[in-house]
Amino acid sequence: MHYREVDASREFLLRLETGADWRTEIEEFAALEEIDAAWFQAMGAVRDAEVWFYDQEDKEYRSVTFDEPLEVAACVGNVSYLDGERFAHTHAVLSRPSGQALAGHLNAATVFAGEVYLRAFEDGLEREHHEPTDLDLWL
Ligand code: ZN
Repeated sequence: MHYREVDASREFLLRLETGADWRTEIEEFAALEEIDAAWFQAMGAVRDAEVWFYDQEDKEYRSVTFDEPLEVAACVGNVSYLDGERFAHTHAVLSRPSGQALAGHLNAATVFAGEVYLRAFEDGLEREHHEPTDLDLWL
């Protein structure tokens, strides 16, 4: 187990822009406010969602795109540094008109509407390659 104590210095509410990319909006906001680490939760609606699933055996992401309007029933993520860039690691549970859910690592999605609560931390978080999982995890 690796852990650290964090000081949550600032809190924000964001409304994402219709037509923008969900994850890019959060990354651009973090850059604007010079936030190097944060945790967020969000909800709203999207279309054209690209959801990734990490195959633990093959150690590869599998991508699936849903070209349909979806509700963002729940979204959680964090902001850290990956390869020198701010990265919003974003997971979401999306739902269809029937109420059926699909979920995973939300790589991209076009915002219809989005509301985000974000808590920023004083010290930055950096991701580095982690051999056992082949993922980029916090140091
Ligand atoms: Zn993920």
